Amino acid sequence: MSASNVISVRKGSWAVVCLALLGSLAPQAAFAANCQGRSDALGTSRTLVVDPREHPRIGTMQYPQTLPLADHEVVLTFDDGPLPKYSNQVLSILASECVKATFFAIGRQANANPEGVRKLVAAGHTVGTHSQNHPLTFNKMSAEKARQEIDDGVASTVAALNGDKSKLAPFFRIPGLLRAEIPENYAASQGIQVWSADFVADDWRHVSPQRVYDLAIQRLEAKGKGILLLHDIQARTVAALPRILNELKARGYRIVHVVPATPDRPATPTEPQQWYLHPPTETVAITRWPIVPNFVFTEARALPAPVFADVDWRDADVLDKAQRTHAPQPHLTRWPQPQLAQVASRSTLPSPAASVFTIPEGLSLTLLATRSAARERLAQRKPDASSATNPAASRSHALSARQASHAKRAAHQVPGASVHGKGRGAAQHAAQPGKSGGPMHLASLKKRTPRADAAAIAKRPPE
Ligand SMILES: [Zn+2]
Repeated sequence: MSASNVISVRKGSWAVVCLALLGSLAPQAAFAANCQGRSDALGTSRTLVVDPREHPRIGTMQYPQTLPLADHEVVLTFDDGPLPKYSNQVLSILASECVKATFFAIGRQANANPEGVRKLVAAGHTVGTHSQNHPLTFNKMSAEKARQEIDDGVASTVAALNGDKSKLAPFFRIPGLLRAEIPENYAASQGIQVWSADFVADDWRHVSPQRVYDLAIQRLEAKGKGILLLHDIQARTVAALPRILNELKARGYRIVHVVPATPDRPATPTEPQQWYLHPPTETVAITRWPIVPNFVFTEARALPAPVFADVDWRDADVLDKAQRTHAPQPHLTRWPQPQLAQVASRSTLPSPAASVFTIPEGLSLTLLATRSAARERLAQRKPDASSATNPAASRSHALSARQASHAKRAAHQVPGASVHGKGRGAAQHAAQPGKSGGPMHLASLKKRTPRADAAAIAKRPPE
């Protein structure tokens, strides 16, 4: 690729990036431009249409899934209203920034302030329900009681909307986030989506507006996006809200307005992984484990029967089967097998040779210094008998004869099994300590064991 081509490609890439940036900023800029003549308002970047039946529980504080938000997208929610004193201020603050939010109204509040519910809808916000009486016992409530709380809350809010159920979103938030399967399952059976949250700002506690602001921003920054839970019945929330909105704008966050799907308003197309706050990327192996095969065996033919030559003949079962079917006997295995059958057939074991009972040569020499009369008789035993039955003695004899020409080494030969006078003489020489270095001779004799002698014979080249 030439340099000019590289430059043209880079120019093209920048053009794409710029167009993408303009595209992402266009909705917010356009909405902000129409926000009461203000061009610097936070605005609402987009409207997200969700189908409650497809995703019945959302909010990562309690559920695996949450709204399919992009990075730096925020959904504002307000609970426990409407309470005119504070709800109207919240509405005013949101209107000043052209921000759309979702309100979870308490049925009893709606009964007391139906006009407040209508104001919410008239301002373009989404209105869901938050039970009839806000009991903090949903986690241990009977099915009948839960059903009544949910149904009554919906009925009261719809009544405040002059019976127009289409203006009420099938969204429900359990008071105190005290979730349980009974209310969750009942809501799902009614096509109502249960909303938890992704983070809260503790604005129901006795904390300062500064604390509410700090928690809202810090927790949002920690997650990068999500559903913020606030209350439109608290003075501290009203005090903190303008700063929160300004900070969201300063940090590049975008407000998303959520509405329920209707027959003439289909849900926003999304991918399943978008409903997770931070879906694992494709580079994370765990997302693909365990793998469930999604293929089918298109060829179901049986495997061919193995040929006879493929069988391992060392397999006893196969061998037995071959014998029973008069098949040819296999060749003998390459590894020697013990002939246990022949050994077992003998009635008596063979008599041990006399040489088994002879004293080892090295041992007899080491005992020469304190040789007793019996040892003397053993040493003077007729040599022919020993050599005839003791192979070790024969080998020692051969070794002695071979080394006879070497005077120095012959003097050190083992005499116990020797049949010649020279060997005996050498033994007697070795048995006389002090004449020619007894300790040295004994050490050399200890080294030359019968096994070593036999090895030396084996290593000797053929003569
Ligand atoms: Zn509440």
